[in-house]
Amino acid sequence: MDIFGPMSASSFPNLTVLDHPLIQHKLSILRDKHTSTRDFKQLVGEIATLMAYEVTKDLPTESIQIETPLETMSGRQVSGKKLTLVPILRAGLGMVEGIAQLVPSARVGHIGLYRDHETLEPVDYYFKIPGSEVARDFFILDPMLATGGSAVAAVGALRAAGARRIRFLCLVAAPEGVHRMLEAHPDVPIFTAALDRELDSHGYILPGLGDAGDRLFGTRTPE
Ligand code: URA
Repeated sequence: MDIFGPMSASSFPNLTVLDHPLIQHKLSILRDKHTSTRDFKQLVGEIATLMAYEVTKDLPTESIQIETPLETMSGRQVSGKKLTLVPILRAGLGMVEGIAQLVPSARVGHIGLYRDHETLEPVDYYFKIPGSEVARDFFILDPMLATGGSAVAAVGALRAAGARRIRFLCLVAAPEGVHRMLEAHPDVPIFTAALDRELDSHGYILPGLGDAGDRLFGTRTPE
């Protein structure tokens, strides 16, 4: 059931859909159930790289003196080493290398979440971010923004650790998850390659791409 009616990205002030032709092309291959684990992994990385180009476009830069072979000039560099990537285990791991290729100085933290059987709320079982990093920009990575439970919890955990500048990057988002993030963390921008139609009764995104973790790590053959 599509409880939100027809949604477009413009329905959500917190959402940016990155619809570059290369991203859309690769996403279509990714969604195909015949795509192999090896290709799936490679495509997740490539899409993450292309997304990173867009998502970093407003990172602050500072002036730097450079000596070319001919003379000294003033150039620009991204100010400091200020980016921390925070994949949500385990599927978020698939996005790390693709972004690190563009931003090799990025540090990597990790968040592991499980769902409490009684409250049904996500609880973090693993939380490690590089020390003294709260002044950094944080990119939370998870290929699928489904119910939004993990995303909301991950932002909450980072906030509790003092993080202030947080963005959420996913490949496919469901309206339900974007809506939940908007209610819980309206100031966290979400970047996605696609806004899909809805969730099914098991929390899978439709049309989606199946279980991203299983497809990345080959733990189950997609049907
Ligand atoms: N997580 C996934 O891997 N896929 C979905 O469709 C929803 C959540």
